[in-house]
Amino acid sequence: MTARVTVVGAGLAGLSAATILAGRGVQVTLLEGAPQAGGRCRSYFDPAMGAVIDNGNHLVLSGNRAVRDYLARIGAKDALAGPPRAEFDFVDLRDGSRWRLTPNEGRVPYWVARPGRRVPGTRAADYAGYAPLLWADAKTRIGDVVTARGPLWEKLMQPFLLAALNTEPADSSAALAGAVLRETLAKGGRFYRPRIAHPTLAAAFIDPALAYLAGKQAVVQLGTRLRALAMGPCVLALETPDATLPVSAQDAVILAVPPWIAADLLPGLVVPNDFRAIVNAHFKIAAPAGSPPILGVIGGTAEWIFAFDDRISVTVSGADVLVDRDREDLARTLWADVARALNITDAMPAWQIVKEKRATFAATPAQDARRPPARTQWKNLFLAGDWTATGLPATIEGALRSGETAAALALRHLSL
Ligand SMILES: Cc1cc2nc3c(=O)[nH]c(=O)nc-3n(C[C@H](O)[C@H](O)[C@H](O)COP(=O)(O)OP(=O)(O)OC[C@H]3O[C@@H](n4cnc5c(N)ncnc54)[C@H](O)[C@@H]3O)c2cc1C
Repeated sequence: MTARVTVVGAGLAGLSAATILAGRGVQVTLLEGAPQAGGRCRSYFDPAMGAVIDNGNHLVLSGNRAVRDYLARIGAKDALAGPPRAEFDFVDLRDGSRWRLTPNEGRVPYWVARPGRRVPGTRAADYAGYAPLLWADAKTRIGDVVTARGPLWEKLMQPFLLAALNTEPADSSAALAGAVLRETLAKGGRFYRPRIAHPTLAAAFIDPALAYLAGKQAVVQLGTRLRALAMGPCVLALETPDATLPVSAQDAVILAVPPWIAADLLPGLVVPNDFRAIVNAHFKIAAPAGSPPILGVIGGTAEWIFAFDDRISVTVSGADVLVDRDREDLARTLWADVARALNITDAMPAWQIVKEKRATFAATPAQDARRPPARTQWKNLFLAGDWTATGLPATIEGALRSGETAAALALRHLSL
């Protein structure tokens, strides 16, 4: 008899698990509550922009091992764009200064010894001050072990850590920051070349996964929300608005839904319960020729500016102070930053603001301690999601790895 696994939630965690299992010959059913797959990493046609846009810009780094494996698995290994070497452009809107970081490829960071290659106003010794993050424990905040001020903090580490953790860095978990640094910055430029989905998130991460699943005869049911699980010693059935789907003890279920939904479905489950927002602005205008694909902005409201062929998009992380602001007012503020950063004199073009209020859990030590493991007390039920205990912050890499872990546990349960 063919082994069966039902994966609930078609975000990246669910897609990661589903594609691994389907690739191993498991009969996979994927239930997704929304009318489309992708969850917090999705693209859609936006009438105001007259184009397909992403809910938000998603930056990954070349050292993201699970991203590489996932894209190779679903046949999309060339779907990310970015420079051939690690390089990062910045502008400081306070004084108009601009610089480009050009780290060397190897592990020994000799680039920090060259004044022209490092952050303006910094000394080589400043960089070593971040080493304690690499061995920090789970209770430590970044601000406890590094000096959260000075040019290196303001012009590189604060923006980098804010983007990675989506939480005010000084208050964030030093262990989560350390996990990111160990796999990227500490390994050399080869491991932190910036990569973005091209032309959209869906084209890179979602559509090829759905095509892969279709090719493996997996059943994907969009618009099918799991309402409840019937429990005995293991999961006995899944209830959707239209049906009760029996689950045998030999089958497995992977719950890859957001933490607040998982807590509703499994009363008593402890999950992160404090979240941070991300605000994105999209402007329907091509960036001027020669604009960097990604530009870090210091001293503005905009934090990162992404140049696409048909649009310019802006990301603001940890954006809780912005989420209640009037949308047009926000668009005007962010456009003013874009215009200065890219030297554009045009009036504000068509725009869209996307506010994701619960974009990620807050990457504090207290919230990190609330992340459950993939294994549950029910032997045929496993958890996945960027909020489970991956050891990484809530990122694409973390979501994909959580899917790998849950899939491995399900395969073991199925004795495959
Ligand atoms: C604006 C924004 C920008 C980001 N930028 C970056 C970035 O630059 N780099 C990076 O690495 N990460 C970034 N992230 C984080 C990244 O998007 C997430 O870590 C990742 O997408 C989470 O995937 P997931 O599968 O764990 O969760 P989700 O994407 O939340 O997936 C859960 C799925 O479950 C479905 N669901 C919910 N309830 C039910 C139910 N009852 N039944 C069935 N299905 C249900 C949901 O509809 C959803 O599709 C960003 C996130 C946002 C929001």
